[in-house]
Amino acid sequence: MSARPKVAFFDFTSCEGCQLTVVDSLQDHPELLDAVEIVQFREAMTEKGQDYQIAFIEGSCSRPGDEDRLRAIREQATYVIALGTCAHLGGINAIRNRMPLQDVREYVYGDKAEWFDTYEPRAISAVVKVDATIPGCPIDRGEFIKAVTHLLQGRMPHIPDQPLCMECKLKENVCVYTRSMVCLGPITLAGCDAICPTYGDGCEGCRGMISNPNIEAMKQVMREHGMADEAIDSKLAMFLTNQMMALEEAG
Ligand code: SF4
Ligand code: SF4
Ligand code: SF4
Repeated sequence: MSARPKVAFFDFTSCEGCQLTVVDSLQDHPELLDAVEIVQFREAMTEKGQDYQIAFIEGSCSRPGDEDRLRAIREQATYVIALGTCAHLGGINAIRNRMPLQDVREYVYGDKAEWFDTYEPRAISAVVKVDATIPGCPIDRGEFIKAVTHLLQGRMPHIPDQPLCMECKLKENVCVYTRSMVCLGPITLAGCDAICPTYGDGCEGCRGMISNPNIEAMKQVMREHGMADEAIDSKLAMFLTNQMMALEEAG
């Protein structure tokens, strides 16, 4: 990579909260703006440079038409980084994948449903090769800064595959289950500094699951804490629909 690599940010189906977190992070680390050249970042500038080595992509692929744009970005970029859970897993957009697509389209667009080419939201990795991921909804500021620093050092960002409970225990938090709350920490990827339990809330799983989650044990714990199966399924659906569907398909 060149001494001052060119970086571009792209958004697909998303709330743009991860891009906002990037802007926020860079305000605290202006030195990074000297180390890279940002050529495209719709949320922060008007230029649309097409020459870049690092592409950060926010948002899920939710239309067949998104695929060509993703492939064009992949063709140009040396490194493609998925920014946030929408890009990483389909994210909150994928909740609708449990319902018949035509029903969803008609619910949203009514008798104009045929005008819109929307399909099942998916991770960008379903369409193009992704070199690294910064998970979370939104991304963690520290992880973003660390990822950029690693890329500048010629290293790929790496998120350790360990459950949130490990991070939570290291912070000496009192487990929210002891306060009759529920938490997806045992199956969720750590890295956010266990921020929700630290502030007294259960984890909603926004960073996605670890690679070997024990779903049945997780469900059983939630049942033992008074949750009905329907409520458990809804909780697992918020951020984890595509991962849960993949696990179910794999049997
Ligand atoms: S991951 Fe969350 S914060 Fe980021 S774009 Fe998607 S919905 Fe917004
Ligand atoms: S609060 Fe959640 S993350 Fe923390 S130990 Fe309990 S289950 Fe694990
Ligand atoms: S604690 Fe869970 S829901 Fe909260 S930010 Fe971390 S992964 Fe996301």
